[in-house]
Amino acid sequence: MENYLFDRIILTFDNLCNMQCPFCYRLFNGEKEGLEQIYKILEECKRNKIVNISIGGGDPLNYLYINSVIEYAYNLGFIIDLDTNCYAFNYNKHFKMLEKIEYVGVPVDGKNAETHDLIRTKIGSFKKVIEVIETINNKVSINTVVTKNNYTELIDIYNLIKQYKNVNQWHIYEMMPLLVRKEYYLKEHVDYLKYKQIIEAIQNEKIKIYHCAYKERTRFHMFVSASGYLYCNNKNNLTEYKFFGSIFDSKNIIKMKNYIGDNENE
Ligand code: SF4
Repeated sequence: MENYLFDRIILTFDNLCNMQCPFCYRLFNGEKEGLEQIYKILEECKRNKIVNISIGGGDPLNYLYINSVIEYAYNLGFIIDLDTNCYAFNYNKHFKMLEKIEYVGVPVDGKNAETHDLIRTKIGSFKKVIEVIETINNKVSINTVVTKNNYTELIDIYNLIKQYKNVNQWHIYEMMPLLVRKEYYLKEHVDYLKYKQIIEAIQNEKIKIYHCAYKERTRFHMFVSASGYLYCNNKNNLTEYKFFGSIFDSKNIIKMKNYIGDNENE
């Protein structure tokens, strides 16, 4: 098995988010998480040779103790990425933890507020994203979920983000056909072939562009929830997740790695 598949895990918060994006792939179940529990999860990740912790939604900036989570992960030696919708960003509150973060991932789903806020269903969210890009010194990774409302704007989104010196990655996501989002997926999904040429025509040495087809997602996304359950996308049924039990039972993370690596018998 190649290690690069397995050195990154995404820590997710399943209690709530301050936005309700219609394509959201999180499993909000109201589960409560505790700081001590998250510390133990991070320690378990370390024991299992995870190198990169990516802190994802529900939006991590909602959580009062996010500074402590980042501090603890940093002291354990992880490379830390943070994905945020930016809505709760407050420079005075967050500037200290930003120093410990490698990449900040932010959504740009439209060339302007009109499209972005429509897709994200939150007025003012585009403005906050731009505020974050313009305020922080971190490297920035842009995330765009392709829908019928924005695929014709991809070139405009590119022209917007390339103006910012700190932007050096752009992840373009094909929408996931998750059962919980089935209606939205059927209405808004755009086939990659429809926008492939637009992406391929873009040449930029500074910004690395990644297209993330939903069929490839199982290979790069291992999740652990803030209460410690492990999961990834189900390879045999892309409308669902596959669960592997608690991270505190060490065989479970091995099971998940083997599943992702097509090596279930190892
Ligand atoms: S901001 Fe992220 S976690 Fe929150 S609802 Fe939107 S997609 Fe889901």
